[in-house]
Amino acid sequence: MTEISPGIHWLKLPITLENAGVTHVNVYLIKGNKGYLLVDSGWNTDDSFTTFHNYLVKNGIGFQDIKQIVVTHVHPDHYGMAGRIKKLSGATMAMHHIEKDFIEPRYVAMEELLLKTGRMLTANGTPEKEMVVLRDASLDVEQYIVPTIPDRLLHEGDTITTGIFTFRVIWTPGHSSGHICLYEPDKKILLSGDHILPKITPNISVNPQSIENPLGRYLESLKYLRQLDVSLTLPGHDQPFKNLKERIDEITYHHGQRNLEILRTLALGGKTAYRIAQEITWGDNSGLKDLPPFHRRMAVFETLAHLEMMAAESRVDKLPRKGINYYAQK
Ligand SMILES: [Zn+2]
Ligand SMILES: [Zn+2]
Repeated sequence: MTEISPGIHWLKLPITLENAGVTHVNVYLIKGNKGYLLVDSGWNTDDSFTTFHNYLVKNGIGFQDIKQIVVTHVHPDHYGMAGRIKKLSGATMAMHHIEKDFIEPRYVAMEELLLKTGRMLTANGTPEKEMVVLRDASLDVEQYIVPTIPDRLLHEGDTITTGIFTFRVIWTPGHSSGHICLYEPDKKILLSGDHILPKITPNISVNPQSIENPLGRYLESLKYLRQLDVSLTLPGHDQPFKNLKERIDEITYHHGQRNLEILRTLALGGKTAYRIAQEITWGDNSGLKDLPPFHRRMAVFETLAHLEMMAAESRVDKLPRKGINYYAQK
């Protein structure tokens, strides 16, 4: 926990569940002339709350000194505790308008989203028994969220100011449809959320809440960020880093390689995303069956994101038959 740049405190809050090898989420407390802006919140566990609270106490900051909370996207590790901090501080909460619409179906009335997730798994070749396991794989995460509606809805190009820093909101769909990054052009700082991480490539998947061709949109928004003048990137996980352009090139290359790996598995009559996900490697050479259920679901939907992007680019054929989608080489 350090002041990573003058006026910007970097806090690492623990994530208690083993989450793709990710053990912490980064949140940033940013100085203003009348209190602080908090970017992302960690999820709502005692462990996470105590870590956050201790840091405030140690630095002489009270909850009431937090005036604004901005959430990069509503995944549990970034949004889960925001409602609790909002209640204690009286801060206003802001997020992209698309993310706001996900709160209710994701964390309050979940039946419909579950149904849609199940249907999507089935339509992409997941066998019935496995579909049920994958569909229900993220239900236990609900306990880490305090569902809270934001006070302010953000759009591309909006600004968030603390009186010292002025951030521009950049809409970066892909990892989540309403994901945003915050850019401070004078200080050349980018808060990148889960859009760009220094070590792992963020999950980009087709799912019931994704926009059309999420991987294509993701790569487009990477291209946009590549032109910005950035000297320090503050990501949602791992260490802050300097070489943004290089990292963008690595991530773009990675997705190109994954496309090639998928293209090699395709056959004449077509295969489902589930079948293809079984034929490619995951992480350190694991097969799909070696992954825990939630990661198996991400893997199937990630494969689908690649297939949908290549279908949009006419590199593969999408062949629906009896309600099941098959993808074939052109
Ligand atoms: Zn995320
Ligand atoms: Zn995250």
